[in-house]
Amino acid sequence: MCIEPVAGPQVTACQPAFLPICPILGRLAIVVPRSSLNQRGVSPGGVAVMTGANLPTPDFTFVPSAPGACLAGIRPYRRGSYRLDAEDAAGRLVVHNYGHGGAGITLSWGCAAKVREIVRARVAAGSTRDAAVLGAGVMGLTAATRLLDLGLTVTIYADRKPAETTSFKAGGQWAVSIVNYAGKERELAEILRTAHRTFSESIGNGFGVYERDNYAGRPAENLEVVMQLAAGLVHREFLPRMPFEHHTQAGYRYRTLLVEPPTFLRRLEEDLLARGVRFVWKRFRSREEVLTSVPQNIIVNCTGFGARDLWNDDLLCPIKGQLAMLPAQPALDYLYSQNGYLFPRSDHVVIGGTTEYGVADETPDPPCAAGWCSTSPRCSVGPRRSRCRRSTSITRATRRWSTR
Ligand SMILES: Cc1cc2nc3c(=O)[nH]c(=O)nc-3n(C[C@H](O)[C@H](O)[C@H](O)COP(=O)(O)OP(=O)(O)OC[C@H]3O[C@@H](n4cnc5c(N)ncnc54)[C@H](O)[C@@H]3O)c2cc1C
Repeated sequence: MCIEPVAGPQVTACQPAFLPICPILGRLAIVVPRSSLNQRGVSPGGVAVMTGANLPTPDFTFVPSAPGACLAGIRPYRRGSYRLDAEDAAGRLVVHNYGHGGAGITLSWGCAAKVREIVRARVAAGSTRDAAVLGAGVMGLTAATRLLDLGLTVTIYADRKPAETTSFKAGGQWAVSIVNYAGKERELAEILRTAHRTFSESIGNGFGVYERDNYAGRPAENLEVVMQLAAGLVHREFLPRMPFEHHTQAGYRYRTLLVEPPTFLRRLEEDLLARGVRFVWKRFRSREEVLTSVPQNIIVNCTGFGARDLWNDDLLCPIKGQLAMLPAQPALDYLYSQNGYLFPRSDHVVIGGTTEYGVADETPDPPCAAGWCSTSPRCSVGPRRSRCRRSTSITRATRRWSTR
């Protein structure tokens, strides 16, 4: 938590006042004859060339006191690896699907397909047709969808509705961030391929999924990992000059997906209800309570960070992430990441990327969020001495837009 109070006004006018006129606009672009470029301005050698206007500059004006302007969530990070396996508990099949850290949205459809494979084998062997899914976050809703595909009757149990979950708060870039997968590289590659295919097929169908460019000043680890594990899903180009008015040094452009969690989860929930899934809102205190009170013989545990107490999984460790939600800016249709990120979505422009290891407190911290958006000395409150460890570098990243 930031301990310093917010100094000065609640409205943080972060960048426009400081923008210098850039005298060298466009001058660093490499000139290549149009005929040697493909449709997206990439030369045959893979170096992108800026041929057109700069992309619009984000407006970092931030009102921390506005409703919903500051969010915080707990990434369900699991030491060693995420958990995707099955156990027999008192004659019941319990499939675990949790611990996906900062990549749960990304991996969801792929993990759900794995859950379906595990359950399919059990259904084929026996006569059971009823399944319980614990959890109504992205893992629970996608797993439930895939179980319906097997012709099962599905009941979802959870103490938080989809709009109250961590999943709902996620930024939504499709990337492998802050998740362990030691010894599971092959499985993860399959999960990524299935997830990417499923998300791509849903573009334009009301799931809040879009193809987007993500610009990064340095190679983006969370996308480079995807390229290494499952080649061909994410595309990278080197840019000798970034396509921004004041941010003109070399960088990279990645072509990836953006999933807008509020739209995605709403749509999953609606589809599940339409297909007859029953939601039961309740909190389980222990594994024993689950096994004695849930009647279904197939139980899929998608309780995210909740699995630490529910299933006594000490490998789960909270990593708090905070977000500043700026008003939507429809002109921005690209992502940006470096020491933090900026994801323009249809509901908000999301600024985030903080990591507070071991912190399980979901209370947002407006002074921290204000600090990331701030480029004015008057507004630089809190972060330097806060536990939002990356916030100062996010400030640097955002400052770059306005002062270069
Ligand atoms: C700030 C932030 C940004 C993120 N950005 C991204 C991103 O850009 N891309 C990405 O892929 N991922 C991102 N993530 C990660 C992603 O949000 C998580 O990995 C994902 O939400 C985990 O989903 P889940 O369904 O396992 O857990 P949750 O969404 O937490 O859902 C858990 C469900 O289980 C239920 N539950 C838990 N315990 C119990 C219990 N005892 N009894 C009853 N019900 C229980 C809860 O009520 C809830 O319904 C981000 C996370 C944060 C915090």
